[in-house]
Formats: sequence, structure tokens, C-alpha cells
Amino acid sequence: MSVRVRFAPSPTGFLHIGSLRTALFTYLIARSTNGKCILRIEDTDQEREVEGAVESLIEILRWVGITFDEGPHVGGEYGPYVQTQRIDIYNKYTELLLEKGGAYRCFCTPERLKEMREQQRVNKLPTRYDRKCRDLTDAEIEKKLKSGETFVIRQKMPLNGNVIVYDEIRGEIHFDASNLDDHVLVKTNGIPTYQFANVVDDHLMGITHVTRADEWIPSFPKNALLYQSFGWEMPKFVHYPVILNKQGGKLSKRHGDVMVEEFRDKGYLADALVNFCALLGWHPKDDNEILSLSELEKCFDIKSIGASPATFDADKLDYFNGYYIRRMPTDALLLACLPYLINANLIKALDNDSFKIVKSEKVVGRAYLEGIVELEHERIKRISDVVDAVDFFFADELKYDPNILLWKKMTTAEVKENLTGLLKILDEIKTDVWNVHALEGIIGDYIKSLGFNVGSVLWPLRVSLTGRKASPGVFEVAYILGKHETLKRIKRALDLIQ
Ligand code: GLU
Repeated sequence: MSVRVRFAPSPTGFLHIGSLRTALFTYLIARSTNGKCILRIEDTDQEREVEGAVESLIEILRWVGITFDEGPHVGGEYGPYVQTQRIDIYNKYTELLLEKGGAYRCFCTPERLKEMREQQRVNKLPTRYDRKCRDLTDAEIEKKLKSGETFVIRQKMPLNGNVIVYDEIRGEIHFDASNLDDHVLVKTNGIPTYQFANVVDDHLMGITHVTRADEWIPSFPKNALLYQSFGWEMPKFVHYPVILNKQGGKLSKRHGDVMVEEFRDKGYLADALVNFCALLGWHPKDDNEILSLSELEKCFDIKSIGASPATFDADKLDYFNGYYIRRMPTDALLLACLPYLINANLIKALDNDSFKIVKSEKVVGRAYLEGIVELEHERIKRISDVVDAVDFFFADELKYDPNILLWKKMTTAEVKENLTGLLKILDEIKTDVWNVHALEGIIGDYIKSLGFNVGSVLWPLRVSLTGRKASPGVFEVAYILGKHETLKRIKRALDLIQ
């Protein structure tokens, strides 16, 4: 039987990194087995609809590279793929379940349930339904229905014994039936809960492996009993291990720390997120941890998913991101950097190939910008880092404390002297030989001939050109800035140090 798996998120408007891991593993199980990957939107439990949530979910998954064979956006034979569009289907199966004795109508009012729970709390008992309506006679039920009493549908749990379920990763799991609540399957408004809709859909959609996070293990016996009551064959169950932070606690709730959209906006690459998430609970047999999505599609296997908690290590994500950034060709790097440079108002795109430097009005081409981003290629960990790293190139007048022009114990007079000397020799270089090699040679000779210490010349030069104590190579910077701008910046440094 060919594999059919589904990713079944509730649309909240954002994709949690844990859900990305779930989606990814599920997708990889499908792809590595030539199976089908289905997207199902589980929106029955939502208080209110988040507008555009489904679209943005599909969009972010597409950005990551996860695609579906069936789903609300691509259709398929088992649709609709949005649960709120399947209410009639659930109604039919509610009737069937009542007939089969796997569930019952509960007419208890919210007030009674509240009172019951308070009483249980006082008596230090677990708060759960006391099964008052479990054994109503047909006549009693008929009477209540006739008088218009509202009801929920509850699952009829066994009163004792063990429920034994089998997880593909953990093996057998035993649950004491007496701890199971007769929980609600369908609410008073006729809308099913997760527990009901999920099982009905998995069955009707021919799901072969229910793949989900291990926070759902407590639902496992309830699901198994539902399959039993319906007389349906159970799919296999795979619970992915929990993801903890480095301290062993729950992942932070702060959006920026866990939302995939925010990782993308900060300049994390899809390749890095995929590689990172793939290792959250799964390990490749050959220990080679650098894996692209297409490589993962070939080598992923359920058997190598672990049961023990996975650790979310942000440094590791940065490591992967840096690695994938370094592997980008320069044109791709610039393409990724452009939105950040534009958003930071450093440049404006005039057309596909020319850009205006906002502060100076100078118009530059792609090659010029590629030269700039290439300087930081090895260093940046996130694409967004590029803005801070290179913004000095786009300044009209750099702002910095003139004191940082002084290298070690240098005096103002010495700095002035060295910069003035530099200005003179740089001015003599013809623009057509203004390149890194020439600059390096000429400035090197100048330093040597005067017996200067390298730092006493290069340090003030660096600060003049960048306004910073640390920057990419100073010859490269001077080369990219060009003769005119380089001289202008040295003159300004001389003005500032007066
Ligand atoms: N709707 C559930 C969630 O968002 C799906 C769990 C499952 O895959 O069964 O976590």
C-alpha cells in the first residue's frame, strides 16, 4: 500500500518552527517512499478565523520548499481539505458512532459541569466528566431532544483495563483506561473537536501514517478507541520527539524566536532552516549533517527518528545559515541582500540593473553592489546582517568620533601627517589603475619608505573610509569606493581631526 501522510495544521497566521519540523518530516516520509503528502487545514477549534492564514501558511511552506500532492490549494480526490467545509461529513459519522455505541449525547449544562468540576477540585479528584448522561435510556434521550435541550457528543471510554497502542518510534504504549475522560467529540453547535474530525478525516483520506508531534500522545488511546468503535483499520502512528531549548525547557513563546516567517525576514535561508529542522529528532545514518532538501528526500527514514527530546540550538542554525550563505554565488547573494539594502533606504532600484544610492544620488550597477556584498560574504550569518556590515559604503558623510582615527598612542599631528601623505600618493594614482593590487603596492611602498608602522597608516585610513574600527580589507574598500570618494573621505577625516 503506498504511503499517504498529511500535515494538518490549525491556521494561526504564523508557522511555528516546531510545526515546520512536523511538516518537513511528514513531507520527507512521503517523498522518500514515493508516497503522497496531503495538506489538511484543521480549523474547527478556532475561536475566530485568522484572515489569510491558510494562504500565508501555504506561501511560507512553498518558500521552504515543501509541496503537497493534495490540499486546499491543489485539490485532490479526497477533498474538501478544510475541516470547516466537511461538517456534513462529520455529522454523518457522528450518527454512525452513536449507533455503534462508541459515543453518547450529554445534555449537562455548562453550569452543572462547572459545579461538578469545582466539587472535584475540592475533593482533590481529577477534573473529568462524571458520566451522568452515559446511561440515559432511549426514552430519556427522546424526551430531552423533544424539549429542545442542547447536547454535546462524548466518547464512551472503557471503564477499566488497559488501552495498548503502538507508536512506530516508541513501540507499545500502555494507558490505564480508568484515567480516560469521556471527552467531547462534537460540541453543542455541531462542530467536531480535533479528536473526532482528525480521526474521521484520516480514515476517509486513506492516511497510512498519522505523523504528529508527541504532545498528541495523550490523544493516542482516544484515537485508537475511535477506530475500534467505527470498526476501522488503524493507520500507523509516528510521534515526533519534543523540541526543547538548550536549557531543557520549552521553546520560547516570543514570535521572533520561533516563527518561521520571522526567521525568513531576519535573513535565514530556506536551505538552512530545512537542514536545521531535519536534524531536530532525526539523524542521518552516515552522520553527514549537511543535507539539502533534495538529498533529504532520498535518505530520510522513519526508523532514524529518535524518541528523545531534540534540542533547538540557535547557534547551530546560525552555523547552517552561514554555511549556506557562503555557498551562494555572488549574484544570488546580492539578490538576497537587495531587499534589505532597499528597506534600509541605502539604495533604490531604478530598474533591474541600476540602483541609486539614496544619500549621494550616485547611480550604480549590479556589479558595484556585488563587489560590496561579496566583501562580507564570508562573515555574515544572516542576510539582514549585510545592512550594518556595509552601510558605510552608501553614506554621503560618515559620522564617527574623530578620536577613533588615532591608532594606539598616536597623536593628532601624526595622524594628520600620515593621512596627508596618503592623500598625496593616492591622488597620483590614475583612475584606470585604481585597483586592489595597485593600492596595496603603492600604500605598502609608502609605509615602507617612511619606515612607518603599518597600523599607523592603515588604521586611520580604515577609519576615514568606513567610520569604524573594524571593516573588510581597507584596500578592497578603497577600490570599491573609487578614487574620488576615497580622497573625499580622507579629506573629511582631516577636517574632523583639526
Ligand atoms: N491540528 C493539529 C495541530 O495543529 C494536528 C495534529 C495532527 O497532526 O494530528 O497540531
